[in-house]
Amino acid sequence: MTHKLARVIYESVSYHEKEYNMRLILITLILFIGSCKQVENDWIDKTRHEGLKKLEITAPFEILSTEAKPIGINKTIKNLEESKVYFDKVFNEDLNFAVLFVDNQNWDKYAWAPPPGMPQSYYDGNIVLGIGKSIMASRWEQRLHKLPIQKLDSLRHVFGNEIDLDIFFRDALSLHELGHLYQFYKTSKESQRRWLNEIFGNLCQVASAKNLESKDVFIQMDYFQELLIKENLWGKVEYKTLDQFEESYLEIIKQGRNYGWYQTQFYQIAKELYLKFGDEFLNKFRDLLISIDAKKIGKIENDELIEIIRNNLGDEAVAILKWKHDSYQCVKYS
Ligand SMILES: [Zn+2]
Repeated sequence: MTHKLARVIYESVSYHEKEYNMRLILITLILFIGSCKQVENDWIDKTRHEGLKKLEITAPFEILSTEAKPIGINKTIKNLEESKVYFDKVFNEDLNFAVLFVDNQNWDKYAWAPPPGMPQSYYDGNIVLGIGKSIMASRWEQRLHKLPIQKLDSLRHVFGNEIDLDIFFRDALSLHELGHLYQFYKTSKESQRRWLNEIFGNLCQVASAKNLESKDVFIQMDYFQELLIKENLWGKVEYKTLDQFEESYLEIIKQGRNYGWYQTQFYQIAKELYLKFGDEFLNKFRDLLISIDAKKIGKIENDELIEIIRNNLGDEAVAILKWKHDSYQCVKYS
């Protein structure tokens, strides 16, 4: 249709018809945008919810549990609500996700890795957290008795008389898992480097804990993790390099202690990054993870990876990321 003919036809249409057409276009647009949003919101894998009870707790995300009335989850939910507001703002999203509270007996059915109570998240929008006295927390509570009595007392100062480590694993680490979901929402399942994912998870954990109304979560997580490092409660660990973390990831998770050792190292790096660069750095880091998605660019060599990190995050960030525990450097920094 020529431009002139189109104009004649348009001008011959009555005012009401024009208004009708405009409305039709508008409705179609709204429906189209709505359906796009629907697809994005539907990323949660609901097959993993089978057999769980849906809890009717008002929250901007779905909550499911193996128990009808789980005890002690109110604070976890409040922290996640506050963190969602924070992450939505930082990442400019309105992320939909589900939180699955699972007891020890049913853990293997819903989580992908033991032990019960070790917080984890899936690529498909689900976070799995422990309820009751989790096996993860009880193991660690026993290990704490190796601490000198004054150190144990100082821990009571921060956690209260009963040192309940579920407060750490469920309340504090759920922020870390939620951070992962904001990444997974935008990246494929083909991770470029697991250690970068974990530094991002820790960065999100520190940042959102720092932005919670209550300072307790940050104080507890920080005191506990720094104490673990200082007192070397990990003992001797088999794996220490970043390349080993990539190559023996599942074995390291299985060993638990070794995985925890890596996580506290990542935590210290993430804390330093956040204190230096602040909230906006989370977004820059996520953009980096999106741009190096292995599905998009394939697995790249360490040297090339460091150059990309340098170009995206800068020299200072690369200096903080420098791994201090390799007897042979798996990542070379010039
Ligand atoms: Zn993680």
